[in-house]
Amino acid sequence: MYKFLHANPELSLQEHQTSEFVAGKLNDYGYAVHLIGGTGVVGVLVNGEGPVIAYRADMDGLPVQEDTSLDYASTATGILNGVKVPVMHACGHDVHMAVALRTAEILAGAADSWSGTAVFVFQPAEEIAAGAKAMVNDGLWDRIPNPEIVLGQHVMPYEAGKLFFPIGPAMSMADSWRITLQGKGAHGSQPEESIDPIVLGSSIVLRLQTIVSREVNPRDTAVVTVGTFHAGLKENIIPETAELTVNVRTFTPNVREKVLSAVRRIVMAEAAAAGAPEPRIEVISEFPLCYNDPDETRSTMAAVAHGIGAEKVVESQAHMASEDFGHLGQAAGVPSVYWFLGGVASDATADPGAVPVNHSPHFAPAPEPTLATGVSAAVTAMLARLGN
Ligand code: ZN
Ligand code: ZN
Repeated sequence: MYKFLHANPELSLQEHQTSEFVAGKLNDYGYAVHLIGGTGVVGVLVNGEGPVIAYRADMDGLPVQEDTSLDYASTATGILNGVKVPVMHACGHDVHMAVALRTAEILAGAADSWSGTAVFVFQPAEEIAAGAKAMVNDGLWDRIPNPEIVLGQHVMPYEAGKLFFPIGPAMSMADSWRITLQGKGAHGSQPEESIDPIVLGSSIVLRLQTIVSREVNPRDTAVVTVGTFHAGLKENIIPETAELTVNVRTFTPNVREKVLSAVRRIVMAEAAAAGAPEPRIEVISEFPLCYNDPDETRSTMAAVAHGIGAEKVVESQAHMASEDFGHLGQAAGVPSVYWFLGGVASDATADPGAVPVNHSPHFAPAPEPTLATGVSAAVTAMLARLGN
């Protein structure tokens, strides 16, 4: 199942075949299947009285040309903004789906050992921070029994066979903005006729670096990255416009507010300094904080350690990446616990620099013991709450 999913990735909000595959499996296992939020799928198994426990997996691939030598490597393509692009499960969401489906199958097969309701949420479009929101907006928690907790896990380039639990903040908030700078185009030989958006953009890029170094309290954590900077078509033309995209990572609302307002202030002030019109700022995406309820996380760690061995359960640092997982628990008003699943064969972890990370064209989790460990963790974490 994992290899099939790996070989057949689909882009965010286009997970049609994936959705059909997941729905078919859940149906085979005896779950009531709900299609929510476009390509989102939820499987519900009501098994007597007891708590409702939700487990979430994400489903989308990425526009990445796979460059592994796996015999189940993806050769799939998709359409992104009208352009044909290669598609790969370069973030391991195929691992997440395979683990969740197998967990759902095991729970259905062991129904006499627990009671309550198991809910499996298969969410589209995690990579663009749209899927969790789409499912909630489509009435997820009005249509499905409300859980008392939402659980989930993400494969990471850590040692396979182990599970890593941050307590408290688990993954940062992320804000992405598109900034369009309006200059004034001219001949490259007549700069006096121009307002050069490349020079303006360059000042902005450099000045943005001072937010973290000079404005954020050194005890707090923030990242400001300018991920793209596009302008111009030819060396002797000063272009009319330039476009930057900025990505901000923070862990608290105060720091987030401080950094975002500093970005806005610097962009506006640099434009004014250049004599340019006010730039346009658009929000590309907003990822919420992924926060692990400390008590629930400790009890999950204890249950998993008891089930599969304490040496496999590690308390870890928060991850400076982002997830829209947190939105599901927040919308239901319940805690969540999200952990990281090691995906790298232990003999490869000796040289961390050589391990391909998520989103790399070389990302290739070792199927075992990754999948088995992920399934054991999910089953134990759910049964700890559902078991009689
Ligand atoms: Zn990703
Ligand atoms: Zn991911």
